[in-house]
Amino acid sequence: MEISTNKVVSLKYKLSNHQTGEKIEETNEENPLVFLYGVGGLIPEFEENLAGKTVGDTFDFHITATNAYGDHDPQNVAMIPSDIFHNDEGKFDHEMFQVGASIPMSDNEGNHLTGKIVEVDEENVKMDFNHPLAGTDLHFSGEILEVREASEEEIEHGHVHGEHGHHH
Ligand SMILES: [Zn+2]
Repeated sequence: MEISTNKVVSLKYKLSNHQTGEKIEETNEENPLVFLYGVGGLIPEFEENLAGKTVGDTFDFHITATNAYGDHDPQNVAMIPSDIFHNDEGKFDHEMFQVGASIPMSDNEGNHLTGKIVEVDEENVKMDFNHPLAGTDLHFSGEILEVREASEEEIEHGHVHGEHGHHH
């Protein structure tokens, strides 16, 4: 069975930084990526590269940052007054607010976002709200483990049920 819209696909992959070769994440047979193909849940170019493949086929391709998680946008880097992070005693928690830490935040509309700390001083915390993989060209390699028809219920819900899918 070939991969096409409304098939349930299981695959293992290794994701690395296309420029540096550094590994970003890896899935295996025990913990595969399982998804409903063609419903727009993944990076479109990722799905395009898998079209027509079948069990046992391997893949090896890269996607530029622009077509993956986007380019790094300097407008998404903000200086935030450090006093909003002060604790009850009016002190700044230096343990928690270290360069490189990811801090859950919300914007004016109450949307949740994660900011990564770039710089800290007494007045300001400089935070980067870009996706962690913004600006990174992604390299994927791996193997198709299973392709099956989706059930009517899965198609209706737009996601996969079962062992590696939604439980409800
Ligand atoms: Zn469901």
